[in-house]
Amino acid sequence: MLSTLFSKTDIFMNNQFQIVNHENNFRDLVYVGENQLKANDVVLELNGEILQSPTRESIQLGPNQHILDETGQFINHACNPTCKIVGRTVVVIDKLSKGDSVTFDYNSNEDVVSFPFYCNCHHKLISGKLSNTY
Ligand SMILES: [Zn+2]
Repeated sequence: MLSTLFSKTDIFMNNQFQIVNHENNFRDLVYVGENQLKANDVVLELNGEILQSPTRESIQLGPNQHILDETGQFINHACNPTCKIVGRTVVVIDKLSKGDSVTFDYNSNEDVVSFPFYCNCHHKLISGKLSNTY
């Protein structure tokens, strides 16, 4: 299988991905499939409303283009992420194994993060690539 494409329905129908609820309302999109996904395998095609400015849940696609995807909103930040956004597609960077969180680097994807925060991995301020002045 060169690439694996799941529609939103399939994600949950075939139990390849799950939204896991942690403490403090922290939610996380986790891969639960048995077969390890490889570099450039497709995790999710982003679909939904396009906004001109970012919100806490949106993912930036381009200048003044921020998509609100009902599954993508649960993808968390990591400084060493498992995935990246290519166009409207979330793809695996290297590999994704059962139990791994789907993550991307908000600092390299978003111009400005609407709610800047300190990452869990390094306590680095995550505010977007254009807002290093916070
Ligand atoms: Zn970090």
